[in-house]
Amino acid sequence: MSAKPDTPERGKDFIRQIIDADNASGKYKGRVQTRFPPEPNGYLHIGHAKSICLNFGVARDYDGICKLRFDDTNPVKEDVEYVDSIREDVSWLGFQWEANPFASDYFEKLYFIAELLIKMGKAYVDHQSADEIRENRGTLKEPGINSPYRDRTVEENLTLFRAMRSGDLADGECILRGKIDMAAPNVMLRDPALYRIKHADHHRTGDTWCIYPMYDFAHGLSDAIEGVTHSICTLEFENNRPLYDWCVDTLMDGLKQPELFGENSAIYEDLAARPGLKDRPWQYEFARLNITGTVLSKRKLIQLVQEGHVSGWDDPRMPTISGFRRRGFTPESIRDFCDRIGVAKADSTVEYALLEACVREDLNKRAPRYMGVMDPVKLVIENYPEDQVDEFDVALSPEDDSYGTRKVPFTRELWIERSDFMEDPPKKFFRMGPGREVRLRAAYYVLCTGYDTDAEGNVTEIRATYDPETKGGWLEGGRKVKGTMHWVSATHGLKAEVRNYTSLFSVDNPGAPEEGKTFVDYVDPDSLEVLPECYVEPALADMEPGVNFQFERTGYYCSDNKDHKPGKTMVFNRTTTLRDSWAKIQKKLEK
Ligand code: ATP
Ligand code: MG
Repeated sequence: MSAKPDTPERGKDFIRQIIDADNASGKYKGRVQTRFPPEPNGYLHIGHAKSICLNFGVARDYDGICKLRFDDTNPVKEDVEYVDSIREDVSWLGFQWEANPFASDYFEKLYFIAELLIKMGKAYVDHQSADEIRENRGTLKEPGINSPYRDRTVEENLTLFRAMRSGDLADGECILRGKIDMAAPNVMLRDPALYRIKHADHHRTGDTWCIYPMYDFAHGLSDAIEGVTHSICTLEFENNRPLYDWCVDTLMDGLKQPELFGENSAIYEDLAARPGLKDRPWQYEFARLNITGTVLSKRKLIQLVQEGHVSGWDDPRMPTISGFRRRGFTPESIRDFCDRIGVAKADSTVEYALLEACVREDLNKRAPRYMGVMDPVKLVIENYPEDQVDEFDVALSPEDDSYGTRKVPFTRELWIERSDFMEDPPKKFFRMGPGREVRLRAAYYVLCTGYDTDAEGNVTEIRATYDPETKGGWLEGGRKVKGTMHWVSATHGLKAEVRNYTSLFSVDNPGAPEEGKTFVDYVDPDSLEVLPECYVEPALADMEPGVNFQFERTGYYCSDNKDHKPGKTMVFNRTTTLRDSWAKIQKKLEK
């Protein structure tokens, strides 16, 4: 089995190098299995996209398997709404999971593994209070102190653990702890909690359980049960790795003593036959993604939603996958972004502009072009008959003929952009001004003959004449004009709402607030600009929600996937401007 190359110019990332080495040594006999393991306690963000691309990408490149596994061990914070949204987002990104298990599928097995650990003398029920446990854990410099309950007999521990399960004990009354080493230099190994009592309904198992496994216990063992080979996670789990190893290794030791399973020999047979408990999984950590100008933490994102700073998880300013989707980012652009940032072992922060450059590049290739006037002012073509309509066939793509054309009606009254006219323009202003001739895109040359203003001096109407010889916007062998402007027929154009977005936060690193502030203090109330009265070409009338396109000279937009109703209400979101700020940053860096 040979691996397809990673991005060729960058070479393979360290995870793929490890897999190559494992394949070369025959460690897993060529088997490669990964998983993407979200906790269903929020919507996925762009950081998760990095993990998804890595885990699913590895499985794809090595003809392996990647499962979507919900690590649902914390019933209070989890919900089916999140389960559904996570599935939708992973699919939308373009990945198909081999299977979609839940850690809760293994609750029964995990419970028996916990009993096995007790029988092995590797776990005990501790009745210390949470405060006592914390105090007795020690510090980085000081070892911890053994719990007075640490030397309970196997029988006593079994009885107590079964009582925990039966529901007779209250939340927090006691916990099950691994019996490892209270003096271990890694604090994680100082008799970690394995099970706690929580009388809470679980979104899948209902009230079947009132004890729930801790993340570290459930995670590694779920990997092993499923046969994961490479368990890829982010750097903050580096300290948990020895505990991951302890859980898996202790179970493997236990499997060498079938007699400990007693009447549960079926569970023994099941576990002992699993590939992941012969060639066990190993955990590898990579750097999490940080992006300038935003926060990537479900806890913080949930706060933005709950406190109403945004319209929801899919607000187009949110760094969630659903937010990017609604904003008009394509799955291809997000995958390209994840590819370009690579996979490293050291944390870093990526410029948001790079993500924008990726979507711009993608949309430049395939977004059809239309005209839309954002800040309309009327232009009257005085020598154009009132009842006449020219229908121009205009290419939808400047490069790709297969996109075809759309019909653009030209009439005596048009909308043009207010900013495309100046009463007294300077020399370098190549757009409209009194006595100046410009091209109306794909239509005619028009010469400005006058304008009206209101009492405050605002331009209310502009007048011009057109040259019939310039039909299509060209004059073969004749005079040239410098400026080309977009326009929309005032009689045929359609009214639309346009929503422009800028960064939700006013600073580069809202996650590191100055003293006395929190990230929420940096929310920019002006990051959403609604233009309620824009005019767009009639060709957009039947556009479905969630379609990408470009408003010529203005930006990349998409029809809103919630509020846009074809033929009724038109709502367009700005995905990104046309200007490439990333190219500018690069130029600066090169200097
Ligand atoms: P958050 O801190 O936002 O709550 P999390 O790590 O708690 O995220 P999980 O649902 O546990 O969220 O994450 C699922 C997987 O996605 C984990 O393997 C995690 O390491 C990975 N992941 C989460 N955030 C990032 C990120 N910013 N960059 C890369 N991978 C990430
Ligand atoms: Mg987490």
